[in-house]
Amino acid sequence: MNETRPGQMTIRGISGSPGICIGKAYIVDREGVNLIKRYPVSEAMVPAEIDRFKNAVTKAKNDHAKVIESLDLGENLNILETHMVLFKDKMLYGKTIETISQDRINAEWALRKVSRKVKAMFQQIDDQYLKDRVNDIVQVSDKIMSHLVGAQDIQIRDINKRVILVAHDLSPADTSQIQLERIKGFVTDRGGKNSHTSIVAKSLKIPSVLGSGRASVSINNDDILIVDGSSGIIIVNPEEDTLFKYEERLARFEAYRADIERDSHLPAVTRDGVILNLMANIELVEEVVSAKDNGAKGIGLFRTEFLYLDLKRFPTEDELVQKYKELVELMNPEPVTIRTLDINGDKVNPYIDPVEEANPALGLRAVRFCLENENIFITQLKAILRVAAFGNIKLLIPMISCVEEIIRVKAVLNKAIFELENEDKIFNKDIPLGIMIEVPSAVIMAEELATHVDFFSIGTNDLIQYSMAIDRSNRRVAHLYQALNPAVLKMIKMTYDAAQKKGIEVVMCGEMAGDPVNIPVLLGFGLTNLSMNSASIPVIKKMIRGMDFNLAGKNTKKLFELQTTEEISTFIQEEYKEILPYRETEE
Ligand code: PEP
Ligand code: MG
Repeated sequence: MNETRPGQMTIRGISGSPGICIGKAYIVDREGVNLIKRYPVSEAMVPAEIDRFKNAVTKAKNDHAKVIESLDLGENLNILETHMVLFKDKMLYGKTIETISQDRINAEWALRKVSRKVKAMFQQIDDQYLKDRVNDIVQVSDKIMSHLVGAQDIQIRDINKRVILVAHDLSPADTSQIQLERIKGFVTDRGGKNSHTSIVAKSLKIPSVLGSGRASVSINNDDILIVDGSSGIIIVNPEEDTLFKYEERLARFEAYRADIERDSHLPAVTRDGVILNLMANIELVEEVVSAKDNGAKGIGLFRTEFLYLDLKRFPTEDELVQKYKELVELMNPEPVTIRTLDINGDKVNPYIDPVEEANPALGLRAVRFCLENENIFITQLKAILRVAAFGNIKLLIPMISCVEEIIRVKAVLNKAIFELENEDKIFNKDIPLGIMIEVPSAVIMAEELATHVDFFSIGTNDLIQYSMAIDRSNRRVAHLYQALNPAVLKMIKMTYDAAQKKGIEVVMCGEMAGDPVNIPVLLGFGLTNLSMNSASIPVIKKMIRGMDFNLAGKNTKKLFELQTTEEISTFIQEEYKEILPYRETEE
């Protein structure tokens, strides 16, 4: 809901990452395509309009040729070469020219009309290959369209001003390009709680508000913005008193963060002497510095897919070895858990997998993609095994949903070992193998799964999404995304108990572990290994140092008598009010 006061407007969204920033808006209009207008063209102007279209096609084609030249895509080159042909395809190119002259309408509208028709036509064909080509057509027509509307494909890393980005959407890969010294914060129309975009923003410690609905159309370039990432509010062109109030809040927030960070080197030990193992989740090797600064005792989750998303092609085994080795050497002797590729879901890269899925989160994601693309999987496994010769590595497989999958993974792992032996490479095959527990079926089968692996890592980001049936990137269901939901808590407890019974280690690496309000429950269940966004480590340490482990266990029993998230949350807020961090709420 938006409110307007003379001169200022408030837009509400979802907290993407905490903190406040104040600055000028910079609109990143990646979806200019959606804003196109229809206007008539006189008969005399039709040839000029057709020329404008042809020019846009030539420019898009040239851009595309440059991309092909610069990449080494192996078999994926075919996809890009298909696009080359589609630029001049009769159905898209010929029909758009025909529509401009027959309907006497502008090129943008004609292209949109034609591409929608072609799309509908392909989708009705009963042939999977042709259905999959729809995505190619959409991509080609988007490229032509962006030249027609004059929208540039802005590279976030090239933005050279101290601004606040405003975008319809930013992918996790876009977000990872943000240069901290330039970008103060960002706002998007789309996105939900614990989407990968929000996770990257938290690790960058950059305030952000996601799921704001229409911020990118309501805000203009150079508008003054206040982004309150903690409360999920954007204030556009604030009045002087509001600006003053937020400048004070910003100063208080910075002082609070500095205060917490000062103690980040102290151990995470409870008042009754239980030591917790706090590790960091990272997306890029470069984040190791911040993990160490924040006092992480190892990397509990390395989301390896970001390298693939940024490169826009599959890295080679040697390239992976080089990257992973850098990381392992920086962290030695602390452990590094390398998770195999978890692409698709909300981490899509059309260069890697050009197939459009109706429900990407339920599609060919993570280990499912890897098992279907064995060569890509083996390349990554071989790189991990090779790097294990240089440090303390654990191997983690995402999104396991049944026993068959882990058996198949082990077979591929054996193949990777066999290949390395034949190639006479130095490697270490004795590394702990773990699986993410993030799908409800894995929780139910936890005892059986535990007999096949060395450790579990509970991924609450997906576990909440899949158990509550809510898309973690969808702002409209973000209110249901609750870590303290009793169903979620029961699943965590079941997983922990299964691991204990079978004698394997259990870690939590979902974002849930990085929010102080959840810590009493997690400690209460008995969890002592927590991995989180580096930025959260100092505040979680502080919380742990104020807690009693035994008392947390007793309190957890009381929690299970409660039936709603609100009751559970109120109980924790009351019981731990002395030690929960101070939070400014919106007036
Ligand atoms: C999770 O699902 O909780 C998790 C840690 O993995 P990701 O956020 O990368 O899906
Ligand atoms: Mg996950």
